[in-house]
Amino acid sequence: MNIHEYQAKAVLREFGVPVPRGIPAFTVVEAVRAAEQLGGPVWVVKAQIHAGGRGKAGGVKVVKSLDAVRSEAQRLLDSTLVTEQTGPEGKIVRRLYVEEGSAIDREFYLSALVDRACGRVAFVVSTEGGMEIEEVAHTHPDRIVSFAVDPVTGVLPHHGRRVAQALGLANEAAVQAGRILAQLYAAFLAKDMSLLEINPLVLTKAGALICLDAKIGFDDSALYRHPDIVALRDLSEEDEKEIAASRHELSYIALDGSIGCMVNGAGLAMATMDIIKLYGGAPANFLDVGGGASKERVSAAFKIITADPKVKGILVNIFGGIMRCDIIAEGVIAAVKEVGLKVPLVVRLEGTNVEIGKNIIAESGLNIIAADDLDDAAQKIVAAVKELG
Ligand code: GDP
Ligand code: MN
Repeated sequence: MNIHEYQAKAVLREFGVPVPRGIPAFTVVEAVRAAEQLGGPVWVVKAQIHAGGRGKAGGVKVVKSLDAVRSEAQRLLDSTLVTEQTGPEGKIVRRLYVEEGSAIDREFYLSALVDRACGRVAFVVSTEGGMEIEEVAHTHPDRIVSFAVDPVTGVLPHHGRRVAQALGLANEAAVQAGRILAQLYAAFLAKDMSLLEINPLVLTKAGALICLDAKIGFDDSALYRHPDIVALRDLSEEDEKEIAASRHELSYIALDGSIGCMVNGAGLAMATMDIIKLYGGAPANFLDVGGGASKERVSAAFKIITADPKVKGILVNIFGGIMRCDIIAEGVIAAVKEVGLKVPLVVRLEGTNVEIGKNIIAESGLNIIAADDLDDAAQKIVAAVKELG
């Protein structure tokens, strides 16, 4: 789960992390009132969307008068912001964050993430702040320093010195770097984050280090422990299909391709995506209906797939172990009867109650293409989608 910048900064503030003072605003009037309350002479009006790259796209404006706060708020609210991270359709700006302006001397990059290779929280630090770190990694890998933190010891003074050295910080700023590192680490663990990105971390002209931007992603599997974080969820920022899927406890991730996939088991789902690619197609989604799905859940999954206009064909690939093939067949048929079937559908069933499942499909009278194995299924759906053009 992701949250907005202003929410992320509020979470970090709880842990003592230095962030600029700011007030969220949902209307132009609120934005101006927020600016008045903060006091000038410089403010930053920031569009709140779940995507970065706002600065370059005009979504972050440094202004020097209340009139300018008003006009920027007017311009941004309800506008569609297209950034490098939103995709071409962009995102509608429904919230703003008005902050006190900071006088920046230097911009850095600092992030924490879970390094799955070593099973620890790792930090990534770079002097190249404000830029996309992927780009820096590509062009100047030498300017990126990263290290993992031992969970037994936590952040130690030498980690702070490593960051200070990487960023060229001395004296008070170096001390602050160590302190911020420890605070971010504490926040990361306490809130079960999966990603915490400060880009930029800035050194102000007055010599203070502050977090000027903050992006936080949380581990969905741990959200049950954090009702305060769940309350920050902004459904308008999420993919509708993914929201529907989470309501039915389905693991669903929207992708860019044209073949909708309904599979049981994450491993089989990934193998199905791979084999679609192998035969020249592209999956429209990852969808794992799980081991013990009911007919209702299967039907809900099918409806989510068909609701996606990108889907030009559907592949149902089920290996019945705990999941019974007849349940899948009934769920698919119930959904097709309800929402219709406008694209080719290939079904491959194997395992428990496979004969009953196949019979149910054969007797339904629906135009479903049966497949014998994974290769056969993938080739059939790719061919069917190609034929449509
Ligand atoms: P992003 O583009 O979505 O990552 O948004 P950021 O919050 O990182 O802001 C983009 C850029 O705006 C930053 O890298 C800064 O250069 C600039 N910026 C943000 N806040 C301030 C501020 O208080 N003062 C100044 N001078 N620049 C700022
Ligand atoms: Mn940023």
